[in-house]
Amino acid sequence: VVEAHQVRKSYGDVDVLKGIDLTVRQGEVVLVLGPSGGGKSTFLRTLNHLETPDSGTVTICGERIGYGEKGALRESRIALQRRRTGMVFQQFNLFPNMTALDNVAAGPVHVNRVPRAEARAAAGELLAMVGLADKTGNYPAQLSGGQQQRVAIARALAMRPQLLLFDEPTSALDPEMVGEVLDVMVRLREEGMTMIVVSHEMGFARAAADRVVFISDGVVVEDKSPDLFFAAPEHQRTRQFLDRIL
Ligand code: ATP
Ligand code: MG
Repeated sequence: VVEAHQVRKSYGDVDVLKGIDLTVRQGEVVLVLGPSGGGKSTFLRTLNHLETPDSGTVTICGERIGYGEKGALRESRIALQRRRTGMVFQQFNLFPNMTALDNVAAGPVHVNRVPRAEARAAAGELLAMVGLADKTGNYPAQLSGGQQQRVAIARALAMRPQLLLFDEPTSALDPEMVGEVLDVMVRLREEGMTMIVVSHEMGFARAAADRVVFISDGVVVEDKSPDLFFAAPEHQRTRQFLDRIL
């Protein structure tokens, strides 16, 4: 589903990504770990072209992103391609002036031109799926952090993405709310959703990741099954990192 090849990105004279290679297959869940500032968020953003790589290629569902056209055509093409990926952020980024239901329905209505009644019905089902059937009329300020994040996941799903990207989805949550968000992610995995997750939740890594990828200094240092990653990391940098966080 995803193929990143030698993705590079610099800000000024800071080389953040120095040639990232990553392939993710349909239905795989890949957990991305790495030290702060190592380029994890920047890399996720290049996958849906919120950030344009300086060089290298990103292919999603067989289509190379941002390739082949120029100007306005290129922009509209990128916008179409971006809809294949949903993104969930640390700070839920919900629309504060909309109810949970309208937050979830907004994308389908405004971007995909789905009739409002249909979009709202689908949004209700998605909110039920993330355990919020009784909160559809609440505004974000009337929801806990864990509930807001589940709305954000439902909102991403409403666009029917083929890939979900998560950037530290539980880092802003109180510990007792982390589980309810991870449970939703485990459910999505069981339903076959392809996911790339930046997270330091080791429990999730062990229980739900097919692979763990360690990104440090702008490159993929290690890429392994969770069992091997934690039991037998090959690289010194990985071991140092694990010693600090485990
Ligand atoms: P964290 O674990 O703290 O979230 P990260 O691995 O996600 O870190 P990035 O956010 O990708 O790291 O940042 C990598 C580097 O790129 C950092 O040194 C950061 O300061 C720099 N950087 C990121 N975005 C920008 C930007 N828009 N302009 C300039 N520098 C940036
Ligand atoms: Mg980050």
